Amino acid sequence: MKKFFKKEHESEERSSEIEELRQSVLDKKMPEQVEKIVLKEVDRLFKISPSSAEYTIGINYIDYLITLPWNHFTEDNLDINRAEIILNREHCGLDEIKERILEHLAVRLMKLSVKNTILVVDDEKMTRMNLLHVLSKEGYDVDTAASGSEALERIEKDRFDLVITDLKMDKIDGLMLLDSIKKINPATEVIIITGYATVLTAVDAIKRGSFHFIAKPLKLDEIRSTVKSALSKKTGVMDSKSPVICFTGPPGTGKTSLGQSIARSLERKFIRISLAGMKDEAEIRGHRRSYVGALSGRIIQEIRRVESSNPVFMLDEIDKIGQDFKGDPAAALLEVLDPQQNAQFIDHYIDVPFDLSKVMFIATANTIDKIPRPLLDRFEVISMSGYTMEEKVNIALRHLIPKAIKDSGLSRYSLKFTKKALRKIIREHTREAGLRELERKISSICRKITRQLVKKAIDPDALDITEKTVNDFFGPSRYHFEIAGAKDRIGCSTGLAWTETGGEIIFIEATKMMGSNQLILTGSLGEVMKESAQAALSYIRSNTKTFELKPDFFHQQDIHIHVPAGAIPKDGPSAGLTIAVALLSMLKNQPCRRGTAMTGELTLSGRILPVGGIKEKLLAAKIAGIKTVIFPSKNIAELSVIPEDLKKDIQIVTAGELNEVLNLVLKQQQGHTT
Ligand code: ADP
Repeated sequence: MKKFFKKEHESEERSSEIEELRQSVLDKKMPEQVEKIVLKEVDRLFKISPSSAEYTIGINYIDYLITLPWNHFTEDNLDINRAEIILNREHCGLDEIKERILEHLAVRLMKLSVKNTILVVDDEKMTRMNLLHVLSKEGYDVDTAASGSEALERIEKDRFDLVITDLKMDKIDGLMLLDSIKKINPATEVIIITGYATVLTAVDAIKRGSFHFIAKPLKLDEIRSTVKSALSKKTGVMDSKSPVICFTGPPGTGKTSLGQSIARSLERKFIRISLAGMKDEAEIRGHRRSYVGALSGRIIQEIRRVESSNPVFMLDEIDKIGQDFKGDPAAALLEVLDPQQNAQFIDHYIDVPFDLSKVMFIATANTIDKIPRPLLDRFEVISMSGYTMEEKVNIALRHLIPKAIKDSGLSRYSLKFTKKALRKIIREHTREAGLRELERKISSICRKITRQLVKKAIDPDALDITEKTVNDFFGPSRYHFEIAGAKDRIGCSTGLAWTETGGEIIFIEATKMMGSNQLILTGSLGEVMKESAQAALSYIRSNTKTFELKPDFFHQQDIHIHVPAGAIPKDGPSAGLTIAVALLSMLKNQPCRRGTAMTGELTLSGRILPVGGIKEKLLAAKIAGIKTVIFPSKNIAELSVIPEDLKKDIQIVTAGELNEVLNLVLKQQQGHTT
């Protein structure tokens, strides 16, 4: 008897738990199609034993769905001037990039702010006026017509997103109007209003292309929701058709913080996930519920965390995404970013469509070369190249230092960095295109000062950070200017390379020895670079006369080309010219000017072809103290748009053929002949 009561009590408890769950589902106002599926899941719980694992999985699953932000959006701030102010306030320089961001936002905002147009057609004035009032209040642009023929006149003149028409009208009735509308502009949605007696005709209307029908007497809620769903299809598609912004550039150039500013100016929530090393598709799309410990993917997890269906969602380091036997996350991402599919995104765990079409995705990458092609096609790439010394000093003074002072609790002291101290930090203690190391160094100084203040070891009224303070805190320079001070050497040329972290200086060494006509290449060179080396040697061998070399210089010799810093893999075509110069310097016994750096691809006929990353390379050359740089003549267009202050204090030479650069790079050995 006791046992029987216990059982009955348990089953009552379970019923009330399930009923509560059902009510929560209904309260959540999920999309109709989703609600149906979830309610079915709720009903299924009755059939499962509460002590089974399946029951708990079921409850957790429904709980999870209830906590998702279905139809929960933050309202966009559409003020483009405010966006401009925020971008300018939070970022120095980057004028061209800000322009492009604002243009992109303007297009999106324009699309969002365009009001949907509705034409109400009814021969009863009362109904017309009622609908006009209700729908205008909802923010639509509403017009009315008293008959089918008047409606047709309007439709031929203007495009409407939606026509709401009465079914029964004189001469041209609702169905005839529907047929004509679909002929004139098939994209216009139509909603038919009908009395109870004509429901069958209304069903026929749906078959003929109307979006829905509403029965009389009209209920305001029903009108609002039907109109909203008829138009949501349109705005959704319009909004998400804009390409996705992809910021590319070296680390620390402000990609993430630009994304944050965009979110702040739109007043949207901000999400950032890093895709670096992500190999498993399930990280994007989730695990199936039947897995033990199944989880939804990162996209849904994050949207749930911020409780908004329209955040700014940053997909960081999209170029580092992996691929292995567990599937291809890039393919899953493509679905996430595809406007045709993302309104119905299915995460394996939640297993019902979730609308991602209102999310504003932004991607970031260090280089575009490694972004899978189909993804790249969806992007509007905005590239950032790194900052000059003066830009860094400015950003530090206006942004990094105030932030670091605040974070270290020094706001009430007047801590000041001199420009000279900042230049010293940048020159001697950082080597980067962006600002990460500089930011760390500034924070480190602020923390050290805080510590000394707490210890009462320094005078709070004399807190100037000078070159001496930098020396005291960080000691001798971490990076040396091998370039400016070092000796010119035979067989060692200076090149400019472009890597994921920005521009860089490389040295290429060449030497020869007795051997068996081999070209030895070392220094973790990639395939392309090896081929460049072979091409450079072949070109020199076939033009010995031009270069005043012995025709058989390679006979019974081995030539070795080495690019130091061997642990770092190097590849790319832009080293051809530098390799050829190193070889000629070695063969002609003429030292290379170390302060002259070059970049360019070399053809078998000695022409110098254009290369990428001109601005990054120029920045790196300046930081390294290079005096002269040689660029391919075909890069003249890129060179012409480089800011003047970056071209100051450095000689820029362009060349179309290898011959043209030799005198500039190779030093004549006094009294020496080859
Ligand atoms: P990324 O995402 O490109 O690696 P971050 O956005 O993390 O770089 O930037 C690193 C730091 O430098 C951040 O504190 C950022 O606010 C700051 N920063 C970068 N560029 C600028 C800029 N133009 N103006 C102001 N601060 C900047």
